[in-house]
Amino acid sequence: MPAITNHLPTSELQALDAAHHMHPFTAGGELAAKGARVITRANGVFLHDSEGNEILDGMAGLWCVNIGYGRGELADVAARQMRELPYYNTFFQTTHVPAIALTQKIAELAPGDLNHVFFAGSGSEANDTNLRMVRTYWAIKGKPDKHIVISRKNAYHGSSVGSGSLGGMTAMHAQGGLPIPGIVHIDQPNWWAEGGSMSREEFGVSRAKQLEVAILEHGEDKVAAFIAEPIQGAGGVIIPPETYWPEIQRICDKYDILLIADEVICGFGRTGNWFGSQTLGIKPHIMTIAKGLSSGYQPIGGSIVCDEVAEVIGSGEFNHGYTYSGHPVAAAVALENLRILEEENVLDHVRDVAMPALHEMWHGLADHPLVGETTITGMMGSLALTPHKDSRAKFAMDAGTAGFMCRERCFANNLVMRHVYDRMVISPPLIITPDEIAEIGRRARTALDECYVQLKDGDMLKPAA
Ligand SMILES: *Cc1c(COP(=O)(O)O)cnc(C)c1O
Repeated sequence: MPAITNHLPTSELQALDAAHHMHPFTAGGELAAKGARVITRANGVFLHDSEGNEILDGMAGLWCVNIGYGRGELADVAARQMRELPYYNTFFQTTHVPAIALTQKIAELAPGDLNHVFFAGSGSEANDTNLRMVRTYWAIKGKPDKHIVISRKNAYHGSSVGSGSLGGMTAMHAQGGLPIPGIVHIDQPNWWAEGGSMSREEFGVSRAKQLEVAILEHGEDKVAAFIAEPIQGAGGVIIPPETYWPEIQRICDKYDILLIADEVICGFGRTGNWFGSQTLGIKPHIMTIAKGLSSGYQPIGGSIVCDEVAEVIGSGEFNHGYTYSGHPVAAAVALENLRILEEENVLDHVRDVAMPALHEMWHGLADHPLVGETTITGMMGSLALTPHKDSRAKFAMDAGTAGFMCRERCFANNLVMRHVYDRMVISPPLIITPDEIAEIGRRARTALDECYVQLKDGDMLKPAA
């Protein structure tokens, strides 16, 4: 198919972008000087840019395009819904068919008694909802002081003031007065970077025990909830040791702390089950959802809430909501996305076809001289770049320098992989085929080879002291 040419030349688009468009998580001046990559269209697992390149999207956009690009059914549903009812709110004792149908479907898919959905426009908004909901829950139960939410360093829960505070990203906390009060961060279960001489198993338990220490330090009567991603995504796909979650669950149960599983990435098939909580054996009271809920075709997020919490919250007026809570077009598109996931047996494809191929390819990169550990669960994996495998050494230069170089080599080879500091991350569309996975493997290895040569030539393969 020829490149679509009914747009301005790339250089003019880049100049306009630089003049008017402020990009998220970007050094604007630096990007303006360089010029942004312009993506024009996409199909399946491939992106096309304004220069005619075909780029393999190893990240499913931002971890969200689970069914792949170009599914016309979602466009048709959106157009139909816009003609029927483009907007109405769900405030003021009102509802509409798409919101009803989607909540019913989500309740059916969610485990246990997670039967209620509060809609938001995004994952950030949903976690803001959760923060207010858990505090309101305890206040209604006569414990207004039970308000602290415990989270983890290097967690990602969104970028609004509330969700950014819940998250544990130091670079985000450094700007704009975050975190807000009442949020406590314990260490993350990142064995590769922080495990020292402990075994993975010992380390998992010791990191989980920090939750107990924090609860006892602040007092059980002060702690409302613990929030965590089943597997940290934006933190670099940190897969916790197997000993971690059982211990966390035990502690939450023992001290009567609500457990919020942030399923924004893990939900809707990413880990091989409908939810990451099922893969990791977690029983949360609330799940945050977004991204894969609509495969990114429409902005929508929400909180899936268990019977008990929903009942308590429903006993009074919850003074909270968004204009676009349960937006009919977004809800209809999400429902169509879930229909495709179910009727096309995408989870079976993940478990039986894509996952085995992806794991084999990914672990196959472990013999590369630049690669430390390779870890992967379901369709989300990461690998650590290191100047010295055996000692799990970090680079002497600034963290993220090697990762950035590797990401640039990936782009140069028409592959999107993300870097989080010096970890390379992969999270492709769930519908990816074994041939496409093999192609990711070839491009990734070429990128790693080129990065290795660059680092070597620049005398940058030095371990930190
Ligand atoms: C992306 C993400 C969010 C934030 O979602 P937005 O839709 O970007 O607001 C929250 N939690 C996790 C785990 C995420 O990956």
